[in-house]
Amino acid sequence: MSDLAGQVALVTGASRGIGAAIAEALAKAGAHVVLTGRDTGLLEAVEQRIFDCGGSATIAPVDLSDADGIARLANAVAERWGKLDVLVHSAAVLPELMAVKDIDQTAFSKALTVNVLATQALISRFDPLLRASSDPRFVYLTTSVAAAPRAFWGAYAASKAAAEALVDCHAQETRNISKLRVAIIDPGATRTAMRAKAYPGEDPNSVKQPGVVADRVVTLLGEQFSSPHRERVNQTS
Ligand code: NAP
Repeated sequence: MSDLAGQVALVTGASRGIGAAIAEALAKAGAHVVLTGRDTGLLEAVEQRIFDCGGSATIAPVDLSDADGIARLANAVAERWGKLDVLVHSAAVLPELMAVKDIDQTAFSKALTVNVLATQALISRFDPLLRASSDPRFVYLTTSVAAAPRAFWGAYAASKAAAEALVDCHAQETRNISKLRVAIIDPGATRTAMRAKAYPGEDPNSVKQPGVVADRVVTLLGEQFSSPHRERVNQTS
């Protein structure tokens, strides 16, 4: 496991699922973790679990569909810590699975806003703070359907593919001119609310717990990976 003592990490989607597990693992590794999401009660519960393990965290409720909210969040991190060492972008929405011809444009637009526009806004707003770190890293959670589209996954696949392209381009734009290192991680099938929504008939015990992904991400942060690094987390990593 990495030693992240003295480092500041911000995790989107930290209220539940993979983001919450990564936040807790980062805190156990010594980082101060800024927990973002919309559900304040869930964020407080994650924060309490971190405190109970002797870690340190701060909740920062933000709706990623609000670009001004993302800007305010970056300003708050700048004022309090003046830098960001690790940005983990786990938050995403899964629109209803349906044929492309039937996609509801209102729901699709919301998914594009949260999954794509917010990704660009996070990159933009946190770039100066990451540049202030001596070892800045950005971890983006992607999905296999971004590169390998499947029937009925069109809205989600298109939004995640667009976001992944932005992250990859950003990694290429920064790798020779900054210390930033970008990791694009496909967590694979993981036991979360999103997975249950996509596969309601699946036995949740047949897929790995979010902690498996979290442990791999925290271990990766201690490795000398080159940017952009791509990896899929196996069922038993
Ligand atoms: P999840 O359990 O549904 O959690 C999604 C998180 O995103 C929640 O913390 C939620 O927080 C946050 N979020 C959603 N809309 C938001 C908004 N408008 N503003 C701020 N936060 C918002 O999902 P997950 O399974 O942990 O997925 C995490 C990442 O892994 C995603 O990027 C997903 O695409 C990827 N992934 C997951 C799987 C899997 O099997 N689980 C597989 C492949 C890829 P609030 O509701 O509190 O806002």
